[in-house]
Amino acid sequence: MYIFPCLSTPPTSNLGRRPAPRLRGRGRGSRGRNGAGSAPAAHELAKHAALRARLLAWYASARRDLPWRRTRDPYAVWISETMLQQTRVDTVIPYYERFLRDLPTLGHLAEAPQEQVLGLWSGLGYYRRARMLHAAAKQAAVNHAGAVPSEVEDLRKLAGIGAYTAGAVASIAFGRRAAVVDGNVARVLARVFAIEDDVKAARGSGLVWRLAEQLVPDGDGDPGDWNQSLMELGATVCVPREPRCDGCPVRDLCEGKRRGIASTLPRVTPKKAPIPVRRVAIVLASERAVLLARRRGDGLFGGLWEPPTGDGEMTALASRLGIDAGALEPAGEVVHVLSHRRMQIEVARAPLGRWARRKRWPLPGPEYDAVELVRFEDLAKRPQAALSRKVLAVADVAAPL
Ligand code: SF4
Repeated sequence: MYIFPCLSTPPTSNLGRRPAPRLRGRGRGSRGRNGAGSAPAAHELAKHAALRARLLAWYASARRDLPWRRTRDPYAVWISETMLQQTRVDTVIPYYERFLRDLPTLGHLAEAPQEQVLGLWSGLGYYRRARMLHAAAKQAAVNHAGAVPSEVEDLRKLAGIGAYTAGAVASIAFGRRAAVVDGNVARVLARVFAIEDDVKAARGSGLVWRLAEQLVPDGDGDPGDWNQSLMELGATVCVPREPRCDGCPVRDLCEGKRRGIASTLPRVTPKKAPIPVRRVAIVLASERAVLLARRRGDGLFGGLWEPPTGDGEMTALASRLGIDAGALEPAGEVVHVLSHRRMQIEVARAPLGRWARRKRWPLPGPEYDAVELVRFEDLAKRPQAALSRKVLAVADVAAPL
């Protein structure tokens, strides 16, 4: 393993939960005051400098042309970095472009109804990101005169902004000396420095973060480009299973490659299998409309619309909706895997029939705060998760989704 004489302070956190990076201020010479322990030794500094030079040169010529790389607008950078968490670049691009078209500034986002924000996020998953982004925009509108703050400490005070997003926005949009560590960066650093600790456990995560902080350019490069170069290498060359070392710009600096262990790094404790969750859903529809319920608050799928769904028996859900269970016919089953749950939804459908004239519908369960018949032409205005669309599809609801 690479020896870290400068990293002797025991780390305390993992990749997802970490104190704010303390680096700030471009070129302020903050090494040794950044929580990373004593200054790196001369040979480490030489390796760091070589890494920066190689990777920045490679990034300048090899980086992908992505929409968010054509701007340094802090708001656009913030939106892109939030969308890119846990989500593939190809998936994000159309969402990013649509979001910025409809809500082009922080002021537009702060003033938008939540339904519109969730609608623009529909299908992207991890909806808490959208709710937090909306809340943070409102905070920034009040506390920062409608601007995205430039310092990591101020960014971290906004709803839902963690160490990664704060570092990314501060470095990319404002050129601050702030580190970022996401899965790509952790993989690259674990391999280049042969870190054999679990990078998601406290000690390994601490090592990676401190190294990332030490590596941020201090006058010999742009911190935002540097952070993006690490992420780009992880996304395109130093990929998870089979790193493409032959085409890597830092292969002769890579300790993991030299020792023949690169493809085994980073070490991570295997994830627990998702917990199986069984639910039932009823699709009650006519040729013109379908019954949808809105999930309450900020829990799973909070603020999103879906066919009424519940735990337990189909007959109990029908009873809560005040409909005759005898009218239901089986439609099929939907399986939807989230990060921690494997949802298995038994779907039944029924014609709206005699209930079409009902003015008020009972809530199908405590997790809902609204229930309405929604005309198909209005469905696009009701934010839905991908799971809801799958349930409608299995029930053969022909709607312009
Ligand atoms: S040499 Fe291989 S393992 Fe090392 S950084 Fe490059 S691609 Fe990753």
